[in-house]
Amino acid sequence: MSNKSIDWTNLGFKYRRTDCHIRHHFRDGQWDGGQMFHEETIPVHIAATSLHYGQAAFEGLKAFRCRDGKVRIFRPEMNAARMIDTARRIHMAPVPESLFVEAVHRVVAANLDYIPPYGSGGALYIRPLLFGSGPQIGVTPSLEYTFMVLVMPVGPYYQGGLTPVRAIVYDQYDRAAPLGVGNIKVAGNYAAAMEPHERAKQEGFAVELFLDAREHRYIDEFGTANFIALTKNHEYVTPESRSILPSVTNKCLQKIARDLGMTVQRRPVEFAEIPEFAAVAACGTAVVITPVNEIVRGDSVCKIGPARGCVPEMQQLYDRMTAIQVGDDPDDYGWNMELRA
Ligand SMILES: *Cc1c(COP(=O)(O)O)cnc(C)c1O
Repeated sequence: MSNKSIDWTNLGFKYRRTDCHIRHHFRDGQWDGGQMFHEETIPVHIAATSLHYGQAAFEGLKAFRCRDGKVRIFRPEMNAARMIDTARRIHMAPVPESLFVEAVHRVVAANLDYIPPYGSGGALYIRPLLFGSGPQIGVTPSLEYTFMVLVMPVGPYYQGGLTPVRAIVYDQYDRAAPLGVGNIKVAGNYAAAMEPHERAKQEGFAVELFLDAREHRYIDEFGTANFIALTKNHEYVTPESRSILPSVTNKCLQKIARDLGMTVQRRPVEFAEIPEFAAVAACGTAVVITPVNEIVRGDSVCKIGPARGCVPEMQQLYDRMTAIQVGDDPDDYGWNMELRA
C-alpha cells in the first residue's frame, strides 16, 4: 500500500485506507500497550455491548503538515478529555489522556506518507473510537473495551472562499433529550440524526438545525456541528445548552474572536433571534466553518447575510484558525502539538 495514487487536490471527506491503525484493549481492569494492525477488519464478539446496546464513542481531530515541514496535531488533549467524559456517561472504561495522546502520535507517525502536503489545504483526519467489546446479554456495561485510532487524508472543504449553505429545522425531530446524552460524542446520537439528515439532503439542505427538545424555542446545534452567529455589533454568539456537544473548534474560534476585538456571548439563543444576526455558521473539526445563509422552518424562510460568500469577520475567523493549524500564523495559544519523533 502506498500513497502514490493519492490525488491530494481531490480528497474530499471520505474513508480511505492508510497503512495501519492502533488497537488497545482493556481487560481485567487495565489497558494494554497497544498494537498496530494493517487489516481493515476486526474480529468482534457476537455479544459485544457496543453492537447490542450502543456502548460506543468516537472523536475527531486533525494533524497537519506545516509550513516548516513538521507535522503537528491540533489539541489532542481536548479530544482525550472529551472522550473521558463520554466514556464516564455511558459507563465505559475511560482511556487515560496520556494513552490517548500517545496512541494518536503512534498512528500518525506510522502513516506519515498519508498526510497531505503543506499548501494543499488537506489534513490527516484522526478518528479515535472506543467501544464495549466484551460479551453481555443483560443490559450491563462491558468488562472489556477496545480503543482504536484510525487515520485518513482529507481535503479542504472549500476551494477558494467559504461557500454558504442552506439549513432546515424539522419540528418533528429532536437530536438530544434535555438531560440525555447530547453533550457527549456517543455513537447513537448520530444514528438518531441520520434520518433527518438524509431527508435534509434530499430536500436540498446541507445541514439540519436542532432546537431544544423541551420547547423548540432555543437553538441547540446542527447535526454534527455547533451553531455560531455574529452580530452587527461585533458579538460572537453561541448557544449555551445542556444538550450541545462541546466543540473544540467553537472554543478556539471564541478565543480568536476575542483577539479580533469581538465580544463572546455564550447564552441561551432563541430561534426567533435569527433574523437579527449578521451571519450564522456551523463549526466543527471537519470543515472548521460552514456559513449558513438561509434557515427554513415549516413555511418560514429566513435569509441571513450575503447570498454568496460570507461576512468579512466570519472569513477572518476561518483564515486565522486555519493559518494557526498549518503554521502560517504563530501558535500563540499553544494549540499545536508537534509530532514526537
Ligand atoms: C463532533 C461534533 C461537533 C464538533 O466538535 P469539534 O470538536 O469542533 O470537532 C459539534 N457537534 C456535534 C454534535 C459533534 O458531534
